[in-house]
Amino acid sequence: MGRAYLVGAGPGDPGLLTLRAVECLREADFILYDYLTNPRTLDFARPDAERFRVTQFPGTHAERWQHIPQKLIDEVRKGKVVVHLKGGDPLVFGRGAEEAEALRRAGISYEIVPGVTAALAAAACSDIPLTHRAHSSAVAFVTGHEDPDKSESHLDWGALAHFPGTLAIYMGVTQLGHITRGLLDGGMSPDVPAALVYRASTGEQKTVTAPLGRLEERVRAADLGRPSLVLLGPAVGLKPDVSWFESRPLFGLRVVVTRPKAQAIGFIRRLELLGAAPMHLSPIEIRPPADWGPADAAIRRLRDGGYDWVVFTSANGVTAFLDRLADLGLDARVFGRAQVAAIGSATAAAIAERHLIPDLVPTEDMHSERLAELLTERCRGGRVLLAQAVQGRGLLRDVLSAIATVEVAPVYDQVMSIDGTEDVFDRLRRGEVDAVTLTSPNIATAFLGKCDETTRQRFLDGTTRLVVNSERLAKVLAGEGLPSVVAPDPTAAGLIVALERLRVR
Ligand code: SAH
Repeated sequence: MGRAYLVGAGPGDPGLLTLRAVECLREADFILYDYLTNPRTLDFARPDAERFRVTQFPGTHAERWQHIPQKLIDEVRKGKVVVHLKGGDPLVFGRGAEEAEALRRAGISYEIVPGVTAALAAAACSDIPLTHRAHSSAVAFVTGHEDPDKSESHLDWGALAHFPGTLAIYMGVTQLGHITRGLLDGGMSPDVPAALVYRASTGEQKTVTAPLGRLEERVRAADLGRPSLVLLGPAVGLKPDVSWFESRPLFGLRVVVTRPKAQAIGFIRRLELLGAAPMHLSPIEIRPPADWGPADAAIRRLRDGGYDWVVFTSANGVTAFLDRLADLGLDARVFGRAQVAAIGSATAAAIAERHLIPDLVPTEDMHSERLAELLTERCRGGRVLLAQAVQGRGLLRDVLSAIATVEVAPVYDQVMSIDGTEDVFDRLRRGEVDAVTLTSPNIATAFLGKCDETTRQRFLDGTTRLVVNSERLAKVLAGEGLPSVVAPDPTAAGLIVALERLRVR
């Protein structure tokens, strides 16, 4: 049976979604989302859920809105579970009530899931209390989007000028002059502390503080636009110069993460929690190999005790290999007495997740050369299986073949999945990216192949730094004439250290 959820998506940080919002997203067949919802929120949806952005409707902002209730109704009537994800809270300047009414009239059952509204996020992320025992005993959510020339305004700025607490003004940035005048004319002191918070709760957050009389001038000078929220009142004076949010180690750093989605998400979340503004681009996606024949034959041979060592050179390889076992109706017992090697800590972690303990993991120098050295000492005269990408390096095979019988099982394929028209490339050209993390030569080659001259110039002049996880990759880039920063070790933690160093530069 179809049903509808009007879900508050919070202010931007995916961590500020409610658990109920995540439950609804997991259940959804069809998701409609607004321009304010962070696309990261959609990572919680099932991959097969349909996604529809409100801007896909024709017409202006106001016209588009007319289509929404009907779209929700149509999709529910097809039997779908429909989520309308709305920035912040659905019932705070979100037209949630109008949508609910349309659903009621259509006889469709619905649920409204509250969200963290922008005022709460702006307050928390700029260290401003909305209420305070000594300074503010009330909060008002106010819209600043009233037309100044409208003869009958719903808002009485004169009355709001005497409000005994904090005003949280939504949609106010374009009308800031009008709002300020209204409040000053109504008798509010020009010295009342005020703040404007742009993109609260994200790595792009910016804050301007000033007494009311000077707020507009300061905001214009800082060139801040939408979405911004104004907080106004005596309690705003308690704001420290730099908030806890803005003092995090990677605050404001705009980083493009170039990995397939499944592996990128954990890293992106770490970056978000450190304050960065990550963007995702996946130059290469992981697919099953065109031909499972060689891998399946190897799996059967493994089951029959045909190998002494099984070597994994990526977490992807581990996942693909063990998933394939399951598809064939087999399980980890096929490993029998064979020993298992991993190229580094991330690969070892992927093996451990499948309840196997790797017998060999290099503790530092996690690369093929080192693994080849270590294996050379251990597998002389033995039979070795390498489970890797179709495009995997030949180094291990070449080195080990001299001392052992080596077979390669291609368990996944890496296919190019960008064409250079993605938004990230526009931001790179405009110089709006501080760093790009690159973690494999295949990814680097695919990515650089789509960068134009303007973007390459940004890499050369240091506007955008290329952060890589190995000396080998740095050499690949140097071969293309591009500078890079090498992480102290080839793990997510190592990349973060390198990014922190950029930040303090
Ligand atoms: N339902 C939303 C508000 C929608 S109106 C909520 O509860 O938050 C849109 C306005 O919300 C924007 O013009 C801006 O004033 C405010 N807003 C939304 N997200 C914001 C954010 N991350 N930072 C600052 N203001 C935000």
